[in-house]
Amino acid sequence: MIAILRKTASDEAVDQLVRWIENKGLKTDVSRGENEIVIGLVGDTTVIDPFLLESMDIVERVQRVSEPFKKANRKFHPADTVVDCGHGVLIGGGHFQVIAGPCSVEGENLAPIARRVHAAGATMLRGGAYKPRTSPYAYQGMGEHGLDILLDVAGELDMPVVTEIMDPRDVGLFCDKGIDVMQIGARNAQNFPLLKEVGKTNVPVLLKRGMSGTIDELLMAAEYIMSEGNPNVILCERGIRTFETRTRNTFDLNAVPVLHHLSHLPVVADPSHATGYTRYVQPMALAACAAGADGLEIEVHDCPERAWSDGAQALTPDQFDRTMERIRAIRSVIAPADE
Ligand code: PEP
Ligand code: MN
Repeated sequence: MIAILRKTASDEAVDQLVRWIENKGLKTDVSRGENEIVIGLVGDTTVIDPFLLESMDIVERVQRVSEPFKKANRKFHPADTVVDCGHGVLIGGGHFQVIAGPCSVEGENLAPIARRVHAAGATMLRGGAYKPRTSPYAYQGMGEHGLDILLDVAGELDMPVVTEIMDPRDVGLFCDKGIDVMQIGARNAQNFPLLKEVGKTNVPVLLKRGMSGTIDELLMAAEYIMSEGNPNVILCERGIRTFETRTRNTFDLNAVPVLHHLSHLPVVADPSHATGYTRYVQPMALAACAAGADGLEIEVHDCPERAWSDGAQALTPDQFDRTMERIRAIRSVIAPADE
C-alpha cells in the first residue's frame, strides 16, 4: 500500500503519520519528491483501513499495490487449481465440464431430463431443492426430499450433483447426504456466515457472483471460504445487473479472462441466468467457451412452459443436444488459452 501525501505536509505531521503506521506493526519507506511525499507501507496492510488513512488531512490518496485476496490469488499459487467434484469429474486446469439440469427439482421429470443431458455429454447434474426466490410467495423448493430425488437420479447415472445451499444450518445435512458440489447463489454471494460454514467442509463449492458484485467482491467471497480451510472453490459468472433491460442480466464475459488472470480457481459461466431467455443461451454458451471458461452451467427442462421456476431460460433436451454439439465444435478449434 502506498500513501501519497500533500506536498504541504510538515515534517512533524509526516513523522506523526509514520509513527501511527509503525505502531500497527508495519514498516515504512518514505520518499520525498519535488511535488509529493510518498510513504510505502510494508508488511501485512490488512491492519490498515485505507479509507481512514485517506481521510487524514495530509494524505492526498492511497493506492493498494497488492490484492486483499491471498489464497485465491494466482500470485501465490501460479498453477491452475483442479477441483475434484467426485465420480471422476475434475474441473479446471484444462478439464472442462458441463453442469446441466432443471432450475428446480420438481419430482418425476428429473430422471428423464437427467438421462437426456447425460447422453448429450453433460457431466454434472444440477437442480435446486432450496430455491432463493425474490418473492416469499413464489415456489420455494422441495427441500430435503428434493435432495434425495436429485441424489437418486444422479447416482444411477454416476454423475456428481450440484445444488444450492442457502442456510448455514443445512451444511451438516448436505454433507451427510453426500452432496458433491454445494452451490452458493448470487443472492448469497456475501452471506458471510454461509461462506464460512461451507469453508469448514471439504466439499467443492460453486460460488456465484453476486448480482451487483464486483470481480473483487467475488474473489473476497472465495477468500472467506478458503480462509476457513476449504480450497475447493469454483467461481461462477452468472451475469450482473446493469441498466440493460433486454436480457435478465448482462453476461460479463470479461470476468472469465480477468478471473483467470487474477486467480488460479476454475471459472464456470452460466449463460442461462446471464441472459434469461432460451434463445440467447446457446450463443452465449459458445461465447463463454471461446472466452476460456472451464465449464458451463445450463438449465434444461423437458417442458419449459410448465417449469416451476426459470422456464423462460430453459433449453429443451433437443436444444441442449444441439448446444452440446456446437460446444464441442468450438472447443475443438480454440487452442488452450495463451499465457
Ligand atoms: C440457480 O442456479 O437456479 C440460481 C438461482 O442462480 P443465481 O443464484 O445465479 O440466480
Ligand atoms: Mn434458475
